[in-house]
Amino acid sequence: MSDTDAAGKRLDSDSPLTLPGFFDALADGELLGGVCADCGQVLLPPRPACYACGSRAIEVEAQPTTGEIYARTAVHTPPPALEDDAPYTIAVVELDSGGRLTGRVDAPHDEVGIGDGVEMRVREPTEAERSLAFEHELEWPVHVFEPTDG
Ligand SMILES: [Zn+2]
Repeated sequence: MSDTDAAGKRLDSDSPLTLPGFFDALADGELLGGVCADCGQVLLPPRPACYACGSRAIEVEAQPTTGEIYARTAVHTPPPALEDDAPYTIAVVELDSGGRLTGRVDAPHDEVGIGDGVEMRVREPTEAERSLAFEHELEWPVHVFEPTDG
């Protein structure tokens, strides 16, 4: 494993192929994905190599913030800091680009179903969420999915 991009350049924290670069863009409301030039796989967050085919020919492209619920579950026993939020809904969302992103859904579990439309929004982490973060993650924004139909 070397920390270089497809062109062989060293990755620094400004690169959208790193998590700090991804979260910087997310804080501005832009969801960046890596798109594999060889197989078309969308990588969320972007990574220097494709997890479907191993290619390092990854293009970073803005992703749509709309999609539909691919799978969902209710979290009844969260980390103690998030106890007051439980039960809450976590879903894997398939974006309109085909990429999949996991996140919290701003609706009770029994009010959302597979295939329901959602739109991502970005907010500041709560105090409870900050208490779970590593120091370098403290300013990272949190993405949440909101139902768009029904
Ligand atoms: Zn690929």
